[in-house]
Amino acid sequence: MSKRILVTGGAGFLGSHLCEALLLQNHDVICLDNFFTGNKSNVAHLTSHSKFEIIRHDIIEPILIEVDQIYNLACPASPIHYQYNPIKTVKTSVMGTLNMLGLAKRVKARFFQASTSEVYGDPQQHPQTESYWGNVNPIGERSCYDEGKRVAETLCFDYHRQEQVDIRVGRIFNTYGPRMAAHDGRVVSNFVVQALAGEDITLYGDGSQTRSFCYVDDLIKAFIAMMNTENITGPINLGNPNEFTILELAQKVIAKTGSKSKIVKKILPSDDPKVRRPDISLAQKTLNWNPQIALEEGLDKTIAYFKSLK
Ligand code: NAD
Ligand code: UDP
Repeated sequence: MSKRILVTGGAGFLGSHLCEALLLQNHDVICLDNFFTGNKSNVAHLTSHSKFEIIRHDIIEPILIEVDQIYNLACPASPIHYQYNPIKTVKTSVMGTLNMLGLAKRVKARFFQASTSEVYGDPQQHPQTESYWGNVNPIGERSCYDEGKRVAETLCFDYHRQEQVDIRVGRIFNTYGPRMAAHDGRVVSNFVVQALAGEDITLYGDGSQTRSFCYVDDLIKAFIAMMNTENITGPINLGNPNEFTILELAQKVIAKTGSKSKIVKKILPSDDPKVRRPDISLAQKTLNWNPQIALEEGLDKTIAYFKSLK
């Protein structure tokens, strides 16, 4: 049945793919965004769709709209963006999520929160399961994002216990693909953009730190599966468990682009997690979901996208 669905942060990287997937399922989609890191061009191809609307709004302010489901994605996600105005980042996660949960309560909408693997901080358990409480620095440069997202999870569970809001908390691990912002500093977009331009590849630290990269299409399937699975709350880890060192990623990007770029070592940012890999057993069992797209294939699609921008 067709539903009215609000996607906050809908003009961002993940949000734009989600809006597109929901329209394909014939839902009415309201994309809400303040365009801090998102861009109208990400959803320009959807604006002629009769079931698509865009609202310019900041979730720090309340809003009342009648919807059946809310996907709360609004929040800058890359370190340079969330550290640009850390107080605003906390406000977005805390006051913004509070407002969106308040809306969910009033209109009885189901609520999906885009949480993050950053709630695990620099993890002492590897791979990370949902039962791990994390190792987060509360006063560091990443804290505005990590702690903000942790409070957002707390708010979800308190609205669930106290107000019976039907919540879904997905903990997203590093995701990449077309429509990542070219200069937002995340590793896949940085390396691809640098390789295509023949510039130095900036490897932070010695590149031995690991990440597990999920292709965007796989992740969006998990969002929708989680939202539409009955009697669950999460948190559920959503990501691809195939783990690579950042040096391996740099080498793959150079090989795939045929670039002459050199790998240049730069200082490792503070509190940069040394390892990260999701245990996705819960998602596999509860959502019957498995990521399908390997890094090789996903990188090809991502490189093709960044080439098309030139
Ligand atoms: P993004 O920066 O491309 O998208 C975020 C969107 O939210 C942007 O369109 C931005 O303009 C909007 N926004 C920011 N603050 C807002 C506010 N106060 N009010 C309204 N809109 C606001 O990032 P993304 O990668 O698409 O991330 C989407 C969500 O997923 C974020 O909540 C992020 O924390 C989470 N997440 C992403 C990843 C990833 O690897 N991409 C990993 C973990 C979690
Ligand atoms: N990184 C890097 N070079 C870059 C950008 C990032 O070596 O140009 C490293 C970064 O230090 C981190 C990893 O790549 O260890 C992933 O960084 P990103 O910001 O994409 O995600 P996060 O650290 O939030 O997982």
